[in-house]
Amino acid sequence: MYERPASDALSKRFEAAFMPNYGVPPVALARGEGSKAWDVDGREYLDLIGGIAVSSLGHAHPALVAAVSAQVATLAHTSNLFLHEPEVLLAERLLGLLGAPARVFLTNSGTEANEAALKLAIKYGKSTGRGYFVAAENAFHGRTLGALSLTGKPSIRDQFGPFPADVRFVPYGDADALKNAVTAECAAVFLEPTQGEAGVVPPPDGYFRAAREICDATGALLVADEIQSAIGRTGHWFAHQHDGVLPDVLTLAKGLGGGMPIGACVGFGPAGTIFAKGDHGSTFGGNPVSAAAALAVLDTIDRDGLLDHVRTVGAQLAEGIAAIDHPLLKGVRGRGLWLAIVLTADRSAQVQAAAQHAGFLVNALQPDAVRLAPPLVITSEQIAAFVAALPAILDEAADD
Ligand SMILES: *Cc1c(COP(=O)(O)O)cnc(C)c1O
Repeated sequence: MYERPASDALSKRFEAAFMPNYGVPPVALARGEGSKAWDVDGREYLDLIGGIAVSSLGHAHPALVAAVSAQVATLAHTSNLFLHEPEVLLAERLLGLLGAPARVFLTNSGTEANEAALKLAIKYGKSTGRGYFVAAENAFHGRTLGALSLTGKPSIRDQFGPFPADVRFVPYGDADALKNAVTAECAAVFLEPTQGEAGVVPPPDGYFRAAREICDATGALLVADEIQSAIGRTGHWFAHQHDGVLPDVLTLAKGLGGGMPIGACVGFGPAGTIFAKGDHGSTFGGNPVSAAAALAVLDTIDRDGLLDHVRTVGAQLAEGIAAIDHPLLKGVRGRGLWLAIVLTADRSAQVQAAAQHAGFLVNALQPDAVRLAPPLVITSEQIAAFVAALPAILDEAADD
């Protein structure tokens, strides 16, 4: 339909050089600015997925560019043999935003943050006679073996067992099922405050609070995986703040570094000192450049009032989609700038392709759900442009 010589050539080289685990992605991106991105053939897109909820400030944000450039020109790496100011500032900044006594461990990715949380929970379990874990069906916690053992999606999990942790899965959102599964032998409950990869699925009201009560009653740690939901994505710094519930352990990554790789595992109160000297580590985790990037992200969200902005334009986006009457459109779910367009048929791949043809990057997350997680800086005009284009995109996806 479109001439894409540079994209086609690069895709062929990608296919020949890489393991086939990703397939060949449909667009070869060359550069970005704000919420716009251009492919290697020069086609412009409005980026409504932000590198999977990662590019919180959009592309090439001046504050991120300045922070990363200055830091890489000063000190790029220390390892954990030496400490540096950006990591200390970042940990202090996170603790300030969380507003409760806690300690931080910095990682390079989401799955590593969950590995840290799981190791910490295993140690807690061993010292208190608790040998199993509870997680939710369809949960996604990462691809490394510890995090994968907590991941409740058989298609990505089953062939890689047996796993290092005994994990029992319960239906997400069902507080009674959770209550039945969590006994005094359960070391920890791992939950996403809203499930991300499962399809941007918020739980029923009160579920997270019920999880807190169940963990308090049994002594299990409550681990909130906020790798996708935090750092302003839902219109709050952290999604658990919607429920006013503090977990024992919190994991972060994706949006924290605005595109630079960084994650965090935060332990509140006694959970902050379960790891003793020598128990865990990372050579790159919290490196100065990524820490400087994360500080720039947090400062910019604060300075530019992006939490309010996310609530306003997130509501505009959700209401705009909900107001469309189309046979392929069932509705919209999610919070803030983190939404799923829910379809009446399994045509999300066709919607993604039609959106791409119309100049919008979206993500076919589930067969019947399309994920939107745009940069937090996306403008009201850009949202309006997508909402205006969506009926024709749905028409094309329905006819294909
Ligand atoms: C993306 C994600 C992870 C894994 O993060 P990686 O950086 O890809 O390892 C874990 N948990 C949740 C909720 C996620 O969305």
